[in-house]
This record gives sequence, C-alpha cells and structure tokens, in this order.
Amino acid sequence: MLNNIEKILYLVSFLVFSITRKYYTAKYKKVEIVKNKKKALDIVLLSFSGMGMLVPLVYVFSSVFDFANYDRPFWLTIIGVMVLIVANILLWFSHHNLGSNWTPTLAIKKEHKLVNNGVYKFIRHPMYAAHIYWALGQIAILPNWIAGFSFIIFAVLVLLLRIKDEENMMVEQFGDEYTDYMKHTGIIFPKIKAWYK
Ligand code: SAH
Repeated sequence: MLNNIEKILYLVSFLVFSITRKYYTAKYKKVEIVKNKKKALDIVLLSFSGMGMLVPLVYVFSSVFDFANYDRPFWLTIIGVMVLIVANILLWFSHHNLGSNWTPTLAIKKEHKLVNNGVYKFIRHPMYAAHIYWALGQIAILPNWIAGFSFIIFAVLVLLLRIKDEENMMVEQFGDEYTDYMKHTGIIFPKIKAWYK
C-alpha cells in the first residue's frame, strides 16, 4: 500500500497529470473533428501507453509487484520528482497553448489553427516531450522494475510512429506555413541556431 514516499509522490503527480488532461478534454470536447487520420496501430499503442501509466497505481495500492523492487539511492527520488514536475508543467502549457486544436489521435479540428506561440515557439512536440519526461521521471521515482519501466517502452514507440505522420498531416493542411515553422523549431529540444538568426 501507500507505505513509502515514492508511491505518494507518484500518486500526487499522476493526479495532477490526469486532472490537466480531463480539464482540457472536457473544455474542448464539443469542437468538431473535420479530418480524421487515426490508425488502428496508433490506437493500440496509445492504449498500451495509457496502461503503462496505470501500472504504477497497482504498485502504489497493492504489493503484487513488490518482488520486482530494487534498491537505489534516494537522490534518484528527488530527480524523479523534479522531472515529473517539469512533465506536468509542460503538459499544462502545451494544452493551454494548443487549446481546441488538441486531439488524442491524429486529426484536424474545425477552424484548426497552426499554433506557433508559447512552448510551440521553441519545439513542435512539447506534449510528446512531456510524456517522455514523464516516462523518465517514473523510472527515477519508482524503485521497481515493472512499475518504473511500464510506460517508457510504449511512450517511445507511439512517438516514433506518430511524429512523421503528424508532420505530414500538418504540411498537407498548412503547407508552407508549417514547413517554415519546422525550420525554426526542434522536435522535442529547441533549435538553438534558430534563435541567433
Ligand atoms: N505534437 C504536438 C501535439 C499533440 S496533440 C505536441 O506534442 O505538442 C496531436 C494533435 O495536435 C494533432 O492531431 C494535430 O492536429 C495537432 N497539432 C500538432 N501540432 C500543432 C500545431 N503546431 N498547431 C496546431 N495543431 C497542432
């Protein structure tokens, strides 16, 4: 059960993450989708990825995975908390900037606009970056081979399969506006050179 600080901290972070997601999903749920590009494989991977974030809850509320615990220094817990906080902040900013244009699978919404301000001024995929940070934070904070590593595999797979398709869809939709935007931004790390021009 909730018998150590790591479990409590993960639970709190997870609640913040879920509330942000739920809030923005509810806020824009009435905005219609006009072009749907979702693929079966994407949905399958997304479901596994979602489960990867839920597995730690089994670890938090039961002892079934305790056989897979391992010892590691406490400073990793501190790093883990910091990384999870960064992931939550980045998720919030991305949702805030993306507004009604957000969709869980690839799609174009009604009156879709290209967002290139806020965090999107520096990177094209801040929300995906938030998920990678989350996966790393989860590994650092949970001293358990199953609960720690359950998300990273699927998070990376989803992104590897998705980013190319998403960018092709955006070029198809926004043409030069998006290709130009690509020149000034990094995928998940800012393009330092673009700032010196
Ligand atoms: N890849 C982005 C967005 C993830 S949500 C990120 O990581 O932050 C996925 C949806 O966002 C896609 O279906 C696409 O329609 C939309 N999208 C992606 N980049 C966008 C942008 N710069 N402006 C507007 N919509 C965008």
